[in-house]
Amino acid sequence: MAAASPLRALTAEHRTSRLVYAMARRAMPTPSRIAEDAASRELVITWSDGHDSRYSYRLLRQRCPCAMCVHEWTGEHLLDPSRVPAGIHPTQIAQVGAYALRFTWSDGHSTGIYTFALLRSLCECDACARERAAAGRPSAGP
Ligand SMILES: [Zn+2]
Ligand SMILES: [Zn+2]
Repeated sequence: MAAASPLRALTAEHRTSRLVYAMARRAMPTPSRIAEDAASRELVITWSDGHDSRYSYRLLRQRCPCAMCVHEWTGEHLLDPSRVPAGIHPTQIAQVGAYALRFTWSDGHSTGIYTFALLRSLCECDACARERAAAGRPSAGP
């Protein structure tokens, strides 16, 4: 278990700030429904703007943005994607403030805070894939 990080302290502050909450809502769609499709091993998020996003559990775990998985300064990936087990799945999903979700995974990893912006950028649906290709951006990333 990691020690309380400055980020977590910041999160608590955000939770109490209605102004920040309102700003975050305007800037970014928020998940209005989060469902797990156990059969296809996917997470389905319906957003406040009506978009449906699908995420395969394993890819979502491989994209964990925490300091243990991605170097905080260089952005280098510290997590070897091949070491993420095929049967990985979230055991708990919690909302963090007004801007992110925190996943606890079946491998015990729970330090990843996935912002809504990151989650939208990771959407695996065809429309988002086409949009990213048109914008010349890689298939996924912050
Ligand atoms: Zn991580
Ligand atoms: Zn999408």
